[in-house]
Amino acid sequence: MTLAKGHAFLMIPGPTNVPDEVLRAMHRPAVDIYDGPLLDITASCLADLKKVFRTTGETFIYASNGHGGWEAALTNTLSRGDKVLVLDCGLFARAWGEMAKKIGLEVEILPGSWRQAVDPQALQSRLAADRAHEIKAVMTVQVDTASGVANDVEALGQAIRATGHPALFMADTIASLGCMPFEMDAWGVDVALTGAQKGLMTPPGLAFVAANERALAAHQTANLKTLYWDWTFRQGSEHYQKYCGTPPEHLLYAFRQALDMLFEEGLEAAHLRHRLLAGATRAAVARWAEGGALEFNVLKDEERSNSVTVALTPGIDAKVLKSFCEKTCGVTIGGTIGEIGGSGIRIGHMGHVNAPMVIGALGAIEMGLSVLGVKHGKGGVQAATDYLTAALSR
Ligand SMILES: *Cc1c(COP(=O)(O)O)cnc(C)c1O
Repeated sequence: MTLAKGHAFLMIPGPTNVPDEVLRAMHRPAVDIYDGPLLDITASCLADLKKVFRTTGETFIYASNGHGGWEAALTNTLSRGDKVLVLDCGLFARAWGEMAKKIGLEVEILPGSWRQAVDPQALQSRLAADRAHEIKAVMTVQVDTASGVANDVEALGQAIRATGHPALFMADTIASLGCMPFEMDAWGVDVALTGAQKGLMTPPGLAFVAANERALAAHQTANLKTLYWDWTFRQGSEHYQKYCGTPPEHLLYAFRQALDMLFEEGLEAAHLRHRLLAGATRAAVARWAEGGALEFNVLKDEERSNSVTVALTPGIDAKVLKSFCEKTCGVTIGGTIGEIGGSGIRIGHMGHVNAPMVIGALGAIEMGLSVLGVKHGKGGVQAATDYLTAALSR
């Protein structure tokens, strides 16, 4: 028996739901790449990205996924053999570090936990001990989508500045931009990057990078530069140089539409919506956890992401729960990956989501827990709606 008809719900932490308006924006013939409307789209997207990253720095658009953004950040600013410090808190932080190693950087990992945000004090101590300034860059994720950890990027920036250490500060905001506050300039981030397909509601295939003056100065002497990612080439006067080749036209139309929708809602309103939908999700998980078969991966509430909730399910096979949600209810939730792979679920509440989508997904999970005979606290959905009712009544 299945109830999985009607509109399928994609509740994974990326790619996320693409709004119909964004899909429709792509449904058009290809256009000229040397002249015409695409040039304005490029200019407006580059300018509006500054508003989203909250920077007066330079912005770049790549026809790539988030991994391309990672590579762009590293190769444009660093040289072979440079040492970088990776702030561990999950799979994505580490994977960016793995990439750094592959391209010829020396990688040091600041030890961390997948259940806790990076400790700014630990970062400060490590940098203070680096008197020779061997560390050339500090690499962090704002949200680690594998662990569900949300780092306090502002505090990490302060920790760096407190030591007077000159390392570049690089932040991956792939699973947080558009969902949670991010202040590139105010927080002292030198290079920020993100992808299209998470909070920015666009199909996968675009990466966005922002670089401030310090990063652009480092770029002058970096020797890892390659033509495709090269900021200098992309700042050239020809339109095709902005993409180092044919622009990803249809994705750009999609992204333009998504930006319009984000600005129409307002960045702060979007952040608040994510905060409330995350709060509702956490209220449900906290209730279920009372039964013991389920627990939050991230230990402290204030270190949990507003874009994804990661719950460990020691009492059950997470794959069976995931399969119930999808096959019986039409809701796709994520499974855990990396060192907690197979032992939990990831509920994405990121991008183009609303209350009924989140409550519906929580309802499917709650039914699954009951149908599968998992010991759990009853009334998770009630706790979620109570949470939202309280928030909406204030
Ligand atoms: C999804 C994600 C990535 C990887 O992005 P891709 O588009 O899959 O390359 C990197 N970092 C974080 C935090 C992510 O959530």
